Amino acid sequence: MRTRALALPALWLVAACSKKPPTVSTEPHGEPAPSAVAPVSTNAAVTPASDVITTALGDVKITPLNHATMLLTVKGAAIYVDPTTKAKYDGLPKADVVFITDVHQDHLDPEGLARVARPDTVIVGPPAVVEKLPAGSKNVITMKNGEQTAAKAPVSPALGPAFGIEAVPMYNLTRGPAPGKLFHDKGRGNGYVLTFGDKRFYVSGDTECTPEMKALTNIDVAFVCMNLPYTMPPSEAAACVAAFKPKVLYPYHYRGQKPEEAKATVEAAGVELRLREWY
Ligand code: ZN
Repeated sequence: MRTRALALPALWLVAACSKKPPTVSTEPHGEPAPSAVAPVSTNAAVTPASDVITTALGDVKITPLNHATMLLTVKGAAIYVDPTTKAKYDGLPKADVVFITDVHQDHLDPEGLARVARPDTVIVGPPAVVEKLPAGSKNVITMKNGEQTAAKAPVSPALGPAFGIEAVPMYNLTRGPAPGKLFHDKGRGNGYVLTFGDKRFYVSGDTECTPEMKALTNIDVAFVCMNLPYTMPPSEAAACVAAFKPKVLYPYHYRGQKPEEAKATVEAAGVELRLREWY
């Protein structure tokens, strides 16, 4: 992991990315053709407003922006996950920290990144993402699956040492574009566990129900993907969530699916389901 500000390292990261991206890697896979998927029906329980989670670091405000894109604000600092041009940023703050989960266009979108970035924005991503960042990107932190930030090296001055990051594997177990191929190979993308003082937030990225997800502990807030064909359907996601039992579940990255289908399973496990408007 690199925690110091650095200009984009180009060549060594190529070697660090051991697997060739799958042939589908450049498809904007979260964006099926309009005719392919019926619009997601909005549910009466869907609420467009931001939510607030109280933590020892301060109140964390959660604002769903689009599909895989969200804004978390705490202590006056803005943290974006996967900012793409599909989201609207009017009136929103520039980023202190940006997390990018994967190389696909619904996650890594240079123009979307540029809309939220300022000169001192810290960008966090796995090696495969870092090597695709725009030339001249600064303040880049490269994290491989399983790596954690050290408390002695705060990610952002505004957040200090009580804000921590752990990179969690995100990958397909069985689903892919062709036999023997996966949409997301293990090791390429990162989900993240973000620690805000005493609370732990999990952002799944694009994944199926991996052993690493099931083994998560003490998660207060979980953002879990649930769409086909690239990740997993709501029923599978719900069973996975029931295994690690976060206190609160926000379905996200669910275009074309009905996230309310997760309700019975997760609530039986004592998980609060929060359906919000992501599209
Ligand atoms: Zn995606």
